[in-house]
Amino acid sequence: MAEQHQNIVWKYADSDMAAGSAEVIRTLHDHGYEAYWVGGCVRDEYMGRQVSDMDITTSALPEVTCSIFPRVIPTGIKHGTVTVLVNGQSFEVTTYRIESGYEDHRRPAQVVFVSEVEEDLRRRDFTMNAMALGIGGSWVDPYDGRRDIDLRIIRCVGDATVRFREDALRMIRCIRFASIFGFSIAKDTWKGILAVRDTLPWIAIERIRAELDKMMAGPDPLRGLGLLKKSGLYTRMKIPFPYAMKDPVIINAIPAMDSSHLDIRWAMLILGFDIPGSEAEKLLREWTFSNQRKAMISGLLSFQEAWFSGERGNDIEADRLLWIQLVLKHGAKTAESWLCMHEAVNTTGKQHIDQNSLVQARRWLEEMPVQSLKDLTLTGNEILQALNRRGGPWMGKVLQQLLFQTAAGLFPNERDRLIEEAKQVIEHEEE
Ligand code: ATP
Ligand code: MG
Repeated sequence: MAEQHQNIVWKYADSDMAAGSAEVIRTLHDHGYEAYWVGGCVRDEYMGRQVSDMDITTSALPEVTCSIFPRVIPTGIKHGTVTVLVNGQSFEVTTYRIESGYEDHRRPAQVVFVSEVEEDLRRRDFTMNAMALGIGGSWVDPYDGRRDIDLRIIRCVGDATVRFREDALRMIRCIRFASIFGFSIAKDTWKGILAVRDTLPWIAIERIRAELDKMMAGPDPLRGLGLLKKSGLYTRMKIPFPYAMKDPVIINAIPAMDSSHLDIRWAMLILGFDIPGSEAEKLLREWTFSNQRKAMISGLLSFQEAWFSGERGNDIEADRLLWIQLVLKHGAKTAESWLCMHEAVNTTGKQHIDQNSLVQARRWLEEMPVQSLKDLTLTGNEILQALNRRGGPWMGKVLQQLLFQTAAGLFPNERDRLIEEAKQVIEHEEE
């Protein structure tokens, strides 16, 4: 049969991923079941966006999928989802299902497996996400998702008020998609948000953050931020984000910051809202940022605070030493991020730090022969041996001083020289 041999060619998906997922679909067909690509991958291919992962929907029950494929992980078997592993890749294969009994405006209490793909598509959030594509290129698009994509509109499947009431996270997803794609929001869908927005506190912050991460990494986070404000969703999150455009210069520069540095973008938002460091840390924790991300963002905020609290501009050498102290205190990585942030700001034609200072500071950073204690050719133990002394708090001080002076290029990073300097520091202390 032609259908079996003429698979559609995916233009925007990795070819191995397309081939692997096609093999899964074909295998399900061979066992007598229906199967389609569905959701985000179908939407992205139609829109000409890079496809990140390929989900499959099928008439086969989860136990059947498990028995057909030799390597599976029963990821969410109760909800019908099985992860199928083929050729070192993994695909989520989910049985056609409908959902019911949404409790507290989030996840459904029950899922019921059904036999028609159209029924499965009805539970999905937006028309553009409710499309399925067959292996031979046949479309199942009962809600005209392709038309809405052509019109650049986000529209709920069915009655928006009902759909948002079922799962309040969809309101945030709506704004996330509008922001990433630059689409508008259908009138009824927008009205639905306004009608249902008070249910947002039921949604776990972690799920909201995951959506906002995608929004912040997109091409136009400012549009999403504006929609969150306009819809009133900001103030209705379980942990509200203290929205206040205190510093539009830095906020307007967010899109200019390379999107691969997502946490620098978050730091810019926090700076732009003028949230003080201690409050920011609490907020990031409540917003379920990982410790690593929290440290990265807070580090940048402290760096900024320290820069503006230092006095400079009188003497270039004093400025240089101040900069080196800052770098050692906060780490070279943070300093690098801080430079990138202000370089992004400066591309917008506005600035907080003049370009010459940035160029200068970057040069100083690059010229530092050591950036942390581990770069020194001398360890604490070696100092103890050489000086024949017992350890104590003095040691930390000596090391910091050696580090600073070496980093500033005041003497070379050589073991014997460092020992001499250490002796001098101690004698000095004891005088
Ligand atoms: P992305 O490209 O960012 O992954 P996506 O549309 O694939 O976007 P996912 O969260 O991966 O988003 O969800 C996959 C599909 O599951 C969606 O395309 C949609 O059909 C459906 N879906 C996801 N979340 C919801 C929800 N809260 N309500 C209804 N359907 C949803
Ligand atoms: Mg997806």
